[in-house]
Amino acid sequence: MSNNKLFTTPIDANVPVVNELVFEQINSQITDQLNTGVLVLDADFNIVLWNRFLQVHTDKITDNIIGKSIFTAFPELPQRWLSRKLSSVLQLNTPSFCSWQQRHHLFELPHTRPITTDSEFMAQNCTFLPIESDTRDRHICILIEDVTDACHYQMQLQKTLAEIAQISRIDGLTQIYNRRHWQDSLEQEYAKARRHDKKLSLIMLDLDHFKLLNDNYGHQGGDMVLIEVSALISALLRVEDTFGRYGGEEFAIILPETDSAGAMELAHRICRVIATTPLTYNSQVINVTVSLGVAQLSCNESNYEELITQADSALYQAKSQGRNQVCSAPELVS
Ligand code: GH3
Ligand code: MG
Ligand code: MG
Repeated sequence: MSNNKLFTTPIDANVPVVNELVFEQINSQITDQLNTGVLVLDADFNIVLWNRFLQVHTDKITDNIIGKSIFTAFPELPQRWLSRKLSSVLQLNTPSFCSWQQRHHLFELPHTRPITTDSEFMAQNCTFLPIESDTRDRHICILIEDVTDACHYQMQLQKTLAEIAQISRIDGLTQIYNRRHWQDSLEQEYAKARRHDKKLSLIMLDLDHFKLLNDNYGHQGGDMVLIEVSALISALLRVEDTFGRYGGEEFAIILPETDSAGAMELAHRICRVIATTPLTYNSQVINVTVSLGVAQLSCNESNYEELITQADSALYQAKSQGRNQVCSAPELVS
């Protein structure tokens, strides 16, 4: 008679008794057909059992594995982390779990997606189960689940979402930031400058007589000018500056930690570089100029939109004074 109570005490007298040998055979057949790695350790972390999944996925022979310390059989394992994990499962007598997001893999097992996946090894979800047997010897079972596909699709999804997020911030024609992202950035920079009492300046600029340029060179010529001017300006900026396309042929630059003198200097440089860099379209030379308005954060604005209004007024002034020049918003004194 088996010692296993579950199988030796049938509820119904008609239920046949399963003897221990048959039970073990069934058990090992199920374990060997699982598409999950099963590894059983004793309390000293020596391997007492492993299943076919692990035999297939490692190049190790069962005779060289059974009775060995898990750390000798699999030297790639993170010994400190895993010893602590196994000890706590034994001590607390509660299961524990480690997902691929926490640790991509525990065992260096190959996977079946060598081309489409970045990682060399199978992504794994590992479950640690405390096991108590009749002899009171304590064991731990480690279940190793192959989640390479789930990991692959999740990574692809994250990459695609990041690309979509980036595309949603970029202007399709000029490849600089679009108005929505530029304005969101200004809102953040405005709040930051207010909170930390830091300087902040703004440059708004608009291409002069662009309608005429479109009429003379066609819309495609105009598009080329917008692309080239964006590139010329981008090359003059610092990484912390935020350059965006505000409207059709109007651009805007946020200059954190910059006073009006610094912003004016940059605006003059932009004005000069654009006016002195001839652009070529269909073998024709196109001369372009821009008008610029500069505003600096003072204690008078109650929101970031007021800063835009000031820079826009200065730009309007530059236009009305003859174009191809820079104007500054008057410094407001509180
Ligand atoms: P001003 O010096 O006063 O700014 O005159 P302007 O001709 O530049 O200004 P206006 O507002 O009269 O004309 C702007 C033109 O910009 C009209 C519009 O068709 C053109 N535009 C707007 N977006 C684009 C674009 O993406 N590509 C091209 N090629 N033209 C555009
Ligand atoms: Mg214009
Ligand atoms: Mg305009």
